[in-house]
Amino acid sequence: MNGIVSRLEHDLEQGEILDGKRRYLLMRPDVLMGILRGLDETTRAAVLKSFTRAAYENGGRSIEAYARDADGRALLDVVCETSAGLGWGKWDAELEHDRLRLTVRNSPFAWGHGVSSCPVCAPVVGILQSVAKQILGGPIVAEEVACGAMSGGACEFVAYREDRSQEGNLK
Ligand SMILES: [Zn+2]
Repeated sequence: MNGIVSRLEHDLEQGEILDGKRRYLLMRPDVLMGILRGLDETTRAAVLKSFTRAAYENGGRSIEAYARDADGRALLDVVCETSAGLGWGKWDAELEHDRLRLTVRNSPFAWGHGVSSCPVCAPVVGILQSVAKQILGGPIVAEEVACGAMSGGACEFVAYREDRSQEGNLK
């Protein structure tokens, strides 16, 4: 059985869902992503950036915990499996020599948002950034290069070391 699915405990007395000491929340994706509705473009961009940072910092603590038991390809497998178990879509990650590529099908963030003129899967970017930091070493640039909310297809992400991009620019 999927690791995270078998670990999650519903404490009905406290009204909590826990993975060990880590608390989770079940929420309709359209409620979550509805926070972006009606915001002007500048504010929406700021909220998405903040959403990425929150996922990087807080979700990153889960990634750090997973990284104690797995690294490299094994860590990627744990992250992809856990994402499916948490309802974050179907993740497929590839580790190239100096970068990570991630495809997410059925993203709840794209689904919850609906048609968009910009990528909306900001928390996935934050988690990918955190995973890439563990695997490639930091600091890391991560971005969503194609979003299902724009295309109707899968979401595509890439992450690489900040200094790698500079080397690339010099060539
Ligand atoms: Zn997306």
